[in-house]
Amino acid sequence: MAGYGTVDKGLVIDLGQLSTVDVDPREGTVRVGGGATLADVDRATVPHGLAVPLGVVSGTGVGGLTLGGGVGWLTRAYGLAADNVVAADLVTASGERVRASDAENPELLWGLRGGGGNFGVVTSFTFRAHRLPVHELCAVNFVYAEPHWRSALAAWERWTRDLPDAMQSILTFIVPPPELDAGDEPLLILALAWADPDDQAAGERLVDELRRAAPPDEEERESDWVAWQSAFDVLATKGRRGYWKNTSFDRLDDEVMDVVLRRAAEQRWVGTGIDIHHMGGAFARVPEDATPFPARSARFWLNIYGVWEDAADDAPRTAWVRGFADDMQPFSTGGLYVNFMGREPATGPDAARDAGAPTDPEAARRVYGSEKLARLVSLKRRFDPQNLFRLNHNISPG
Ligand SMILES: Cc1cc2nc3c(=O)[nH]c(=O)nc-3n(C[C@H](O)[C@H](O)[C@H](O)COP(=O)(O)OP(=O)(O)OC[C@H]3O[C@@H](n4cnc5c(N)ncnc54)[C@H](O)[C@@H]3O)c2cc1C
Repeated sequence: MAGYGTVDKGLVIDLGQLSTVDVDPREGTVRVGGGATLADVDRATVPHGLAVPLGVVSGTGVGGLTLGGGVGWLTRAYGLAADNVVAADLVTASGERVRASDAENPELLWGLRGGGGNFGVVTSFTFRAHRLPVHELCAVNFVYAEPHWRSALAAWERWTRDLPDAMQSILTFIVPPPELDAGDEPLLILALAWADPDDQAAGERLVDELRRAAPPDEEERESDWVAWQSAFDVLATKGRRGYWKNTSFDRLDDEVMDVVLRRAAEQRWVGTGIDIHHMGGAFARVPEDATPFPARSARFWLNIYGVWEDAADDAPRTAWVRGFADDMQPFSTGGLYVNFMGREPATGPDAARDAGAPTDPEAARRVYGSEKLARLVSLKRRFDPQNLFRLNHNISPG
């Protein structure tokens, strides 16, 4: 996302062929090559009626997504992708092969659950997988035109106050791309997915409750997990330009809604969008210090994704994303997710010295806070003391 997938005057390691996925249905685990995409994993697990918690766009790499955290349709039910990693195999900066698990290098496993690609090249991840009704999914998109946004947002906020872990919802404002043939006005899409394979009826009842509280202008259902996992792909074609910002927040009252709705109505261009993820559930029950991932208690996570095609739009689109993020600052609970962050100019006391650095050295402190950063720096000193892996949201060995 931040443009760290390639580099000038450096070396890109293409893991594209490490895409094998091996499912162990008896153990309920899945071993995934470090270069696999979400689609590779879903295709392999579905025949076993299993799913791994990952993200929502099928072409995303499991590697970067998991090492930063990984939020998606199963986050409330089973936690982040990173929370579901039980082991990882790495090649370190010195060429050493290392395994990270509860039994071997547990501190490294801790660091890989949110610390990004700082400690080595992960050649394979082993994930816990979960039973899911992969062909009888209860998943639905409620679509609202602008006049109904406020009432839908208010109803959704009330509905999210008391939900079982199995219900995940993501609220999106987007100008539909021409492929969808849905006009060129921005739309609000409330996407809901239910993850309890033993009680489908409970999911349907909750969907119905929201439908009655906020009748949608249109509704689309999906019952197939692979199709649902690629439903957002049309919004994410490759090769575009982008700048993203994110933050966590707890309240979605009139004051916050005013900001969100004003900004949502401003976006009149295809590509840029706004997502609000409802958090909580299993994700929130992971203790704050159990992984580097921050702000577990936040009720909502906002992701403002600027995506466009023409270089001439760089300045205005970036300014729009920054302006919206600034508007949200008074309501922010301080969470920052590395995988939803763009590349930022250097800040902090040494900003002038660091102006030419590939990444902002202060960004890691803002994301992880001082205590977790100290643990991550110790790991970096041990596994990459020369900072070979530095074109990332960098943990500097100092
Ligand atoms: C269209 C789109 C949709 C997205 N949707 C979601 C979503 O639903 N949920 C979510 O949580 N995030 C999402 N993201 C953010 C995503 O998690 C990050 O962009 C992430 O970096 C993608 O990882 P990648 O492997 O595809 O990227 P790459 O550009 O290939 O890698 C990015 C960096 O990750 C590190 N890395 C990648 N693989 C490895 C590895 N095997 N070993 C060591 N380091 C590695 C490296 O530092 C590399 O520079 C989305 C991004 C996009 C562009």
